[in-house]
Amino acid sequence: MIRQTDHLGCIQVAQCETIGVVKPVDELTDASPALASVGRVRKRERISDRVYDELASAIRDMRILPGSALSETDLAERLQVSRTPLREAIARLVETGLVSVVPQVGTRVEPIRLHDVEQARFVRESLEASAAEAVCARPERDVRRLRALLAEQERCFQIHDLDGFFAADEALHEQVFALAGYVGAWQLMQPTKMHLDRIRRLSLPDEATVRALIDEHAAIVDALEAGDPLAARAHVKRHASRASTEAPALMARYPDYFAD
Ligand SMILES: [Zn+2]
Repeated sequence: MIRQTDHLGCIQVAQCETIGVVKPVDELTDASPALASVGRVRKRERISDRVYDELASAIRDMRILPGSALSETDLAERLQVSRTPLREAIARLVETGLVSVVPQVGTRVEPIRLHDVEQARFVRESLEASAAEAVCARPERDVRRLRALLAEQERCFQIHDLDGFFAADEALHEQVFALAGYVGAWQLMQPTKMHLDRIRRLSLPDEATVRALIDEHAAIVDALEAGDPLAARAHVKRHASRASTEAPALMARYPDYFAD
């Protein structure tokens, strides 16, 4: 059954009862919008890793909605992979807390839990605030790529390209870690951060939210360029706390996606 939800705006949400839009592994390329951000995280060759990346990004981007059943048969067919790498990928997703496997019941995408969102908020905020401070301590810091990503976000906002905006948003934060010399920390927190990212994707169709996000990003970049660690920390913390602040309202609006 196709379920199209208008509240997700430009996000692809053609969604059947068992699985959302998932591309065969053979069709995955770095140019694929669905892989734009995860492709930058790390390059790997194992099929199970690519299956994990594809499923994780589909869940994170709300192309597979919370509560959806995941059929092994269906997934193996859609991704054109055998059961072994698929089971390895699902086992990793279970470790992240995004998927659960219940014997005799089946495999499901876990609902969003505020506890998980808050844990992710704390990890992301702590690491990124420290990364921003480290950038300020580097006299050779070059914020040109950050400025270019801000311009890209503005462009995506003007043409209502939410996927493009989210990718540029992710790239900006990754670049903060890269400038600090801690891109490994960015990669390390990805599994935890996905709990936060589902909230971020849910809030994106709101134009005022996207406008505010761009302004917050600009404030972070200004502070980094000025080398002001206190301001950089404060702006990062304010920005990182947004998702958990918005979570209760989103929970009231989309109760089916959440659980206690
Ligand atoms: Zn951001």
